[in-house]
Amino acid sequence: MIDLHSHTWLSDGELSPQKLIERAISLGIQQLAITDHDSVGAHHMLAPFEHESLQLLSGVEISTQWEGKEVHIVGILFDLENQDLASLLQRQQVLRRERAEDIALQLDKTGITGLMGYLNELPCESLGRSHIATFLVERGYVGSKQMAFSKYLGKRGRIQTRIPWCEISEAVGTIRAAGGLSIIAHPDRYDFNRVKLRRLLAEFADAGGDAVEVSYSNLHPEKLQALADRTIEAGLWASVGSDFHTPSNAWMDLGRIRQLPANCASRAIWYHPRWSVALPANVPAANNN
Ligand code: AMP
Ligand code: MN
Ligand code: MN
Ligand code: MN
Repeated sequence: MIDLHSHTWLSDGELSPQKLIERAISLGIQQLAITDHDSVGAHHMLAPFEHESLQLLSGVEISTQWEGKEVHIVGILFDLENQDLASLLQRQQVLRRERAEDIALQLDKTGITGLMGYLNELPCESLGRSHIATFLVERGYVGSKQMAFSKYLGKRGRIQTRIPWCEISEAVGTIRAAGGLSIIAHPDRYDFNRVKLRRLLAEFADAGGDAVEVSYSNLHPEKLQALADRTIEAGLWASVGSDFHTPSNAWMDLGRIRQLPANCASRAIWYHPRWSVALPANVPAANNN
């Protein structure tokens, strides 16, 4: 049981780092990467971490820009003390705060006030649109987070903002220099056609990227197979992760991930030559999911 993509309340997850760990243990997860958006705060809070059945891997999910779209890069197994990575994350957190302030001003103009006061009370380090969606639901402006995105925060919503996220090459280069492996997160959520996805994987591989998240949460089996094929074609490794945010989404629970398709099972990221080198030595490594 391996899960290499999960969130705590240091970004837009619902659980504290401690509660996330407890849930992972109770679900029988053996290797877990906490990958908050542009934050490694949870890892610093949990350190030093040791448990007989659960190995905690360093992780982060970095927002990047590529051809005008937002692409998420998951980094794992890097050195948490690396200063270049810490500065990159710090920069992205500032961009997130500035965007939230911009959104607060835009909401003010429509008569919705109090956003920054609300956000400042949260335990998170990385402010995201998800927090703003929750604010809009809690204050009764919309009936659901989905509505908050469609009406206000999403691509066609009333509030338009753009963050100059770092480039993919910077995210990948920084993760690599910190000793980690980088993974393209949830590739089918970007609405890229096959040609564009191929180009993304090729550029990512050229930049020194390692793997593609092939299996995640409720990905359709046909898409899973297609992603496995693209990954092998690009000479990349295959990763797995639930993208867990909250216990209320049962279909995205920790470890709830389909097995990798047979044609990429031997390309699983845990067979990557740098995996075992970077792995913390606190418990024996599991080697299957
Ligand atoms: P941000 O980090 O601010 O760019 O926001 C991205 C995060 O918002 C994603 O990781 C999701 O957790 C969440 N999100 C994005 N789009 C939606 C949506 N349509 N409905 C619910 N949550 C969403
Ligand atoms: Mn999120
Ligand atoms: Mn993501
Ligand atoms: Mn995520």
